[in-house]
Amino acid sequence: MHDHDHADNEMDEMTARVRALETILTEKGLVDPTTIDTIVEAMETRIGPRNGARVVARAWVDPDYAARLRSDAVSAVAELGYGGAGGEHMRAVFNDAQTHNLIVCTLCSCYPWPVLGLPPVWYKSPPYRARAVKEPRKVLEEFGVKLPKETKIRVRDSTSEVRYMVVPQRPAGTEGLDEEALAALVTRDSMIGTALVSAP
Ligand code: FE
Repeated sequence: MHDHDHADNEMDEMTARVRALETILTEKGLVDPTTIDTIVEAMETRIGPRNGARVVARAWVDPDYAARLRSDAVSAVAELGYGGAGGEHMRAVFNDAQTHNLIVCTLCSCYPWPVLGLPPVWYKSPPYRARAVKEPRKVLEEFGVKLPKETKIRVRDSTSEVRYMVVPQRPAGTEGLDEEALAALVTRDSMIGTALVSAP
């Protein structure tokens, strides 16, 4: 029986590079592999965009919370137990009928990790970073978001000093949903501003 897979020979290039780096860093005693595992696990599960979705849902059902989120996002996010690295300077911007917010980091890839996890690959790509500023309406259309002409688009440039998250508009027809069901509707992209939230 020869049923084990030859994983080491079948790794894609990125996996191979990451594996090589990790091996060298570990052999040189520069990192502890369990630390890497802990960080990756946290990024994927504990601090992913589900955290942000819970913040958004709370803001939708609780106007007082929404007001606190608007005036001091760091504290409001901490009320739900989220914070830490990359979350020291978070700011929440609210979409409404007049204004749609779109997040970018024109310099690199600044992103509010505690509420959104790791940024998607396209967020870090030079074309997105350049075009989100120059032609945001066109970029949004490519993401499938067609806004009315009269809706103003505000492009928010994240930096290490201010990391934005979008609070999308609560979709019509969701009056009967509880907070948990609402959170399930909120996608990562809707909190970057490249998607809208739709009713189930
Ligand atoms: Fe950046």
